[in-house]
Amino acid sequence: QTAGSAQILVQHITDSTNCQLLQRLQGRHELEPGSVIVAEAQSAGRGRRGRTWYSPFGTNLYFSCYWRLEQGIPAAMGLSLAIGLAVCRLLQQYYQLDAKVKWPNDIYVNGKKLAGVLVELSGTLDAGCDVVIGIGLNVGMPEQSKQHIEQPYTDLRTESSQQVDRNLLVVELQRQVVTVLQEFNVAGFAAFIAEFNQNDLYANQPVYLMAKPSISGICRGVDKQGGIIIETSQSTEVHYGGELSLRAG
Ligand code: ATP
Repeated sequence: QTAGSAQILVQHITDSTNCQLLQRLQGRHELEPGSVIVAEAQSAGRGRRGRTWYSPFGTNLYFSCYWRLEQGIPAAMGLSLAIGLAVCRLLQQYYQLDAKVKWPNDIYVNGKKLAGVLVELSGTLDAGCDVVIGIGLNVGMPEQSKQHIEQPYTDLRTESSQQVDRNLLVVELQRQVVTVLQEFNVAGFAAFIAEFNQNDLYANQPVYLMAKPSISGICRGVDKQGGIIIETSQSTEVHYGGELSLRAG
């Protein structure tokens, strides 16, 4: 049940595994970095900007991991991309899937969303900060999910011919996430630029950034803080921020 002295706590149904971890941090519960909460279902699973992460009971994974980010908040910008790469590594190495990261926080297989990442910060803005890393990973989506998700999605059982052992999946996800977090603590997002560019869903493709005003151009990867580089007809621009969404152009 442990990686070092980090724990894996298992809950049946919860509001959101990120909320549960954030509450524990605020209540000053002792938690070892790398500790994880998983649940069988979430009644209030969250995406970015108040969106919902549909989290039915069944076989999906709802996973949150605690970490202490030594470089503080400015470094957190590329973190969700680096975690997306941890999920890609898992899907590629264990399930032989052609997994891609969609900037800034989703994991796609065969053009459909299989997993999403939600990084949330806790505590003071000084040197180090506590982070909670949420990952929703679809293992087996019930038939009625179509009514709840307005964009193409998929799951591990559809994409892989391999048997999925969820206990092993949780342990392996924790291992991959902690490995990436350790790498991130040493060198920040800069260490992941090349890997991101190899696994970028929209590499060198026309894209449309839903910003104000919106921007159309060719996706040219990311900079060392995790900002997206878009080549427009006039210039090459870098855009940052958890408020933006990217689409195929
Ligand atoms: P987008 O993914 O559209 O660029 P986003 O990154 O802001 O936007 P997220 O916050 O990552 O979106 O995820 C929430 C969205 O993902 C929901 O609005 C819904 O469309 C979709 N979604 C919700 N639950 C699931 C799920 N279990 N599997 C796949 N997609 C989901």
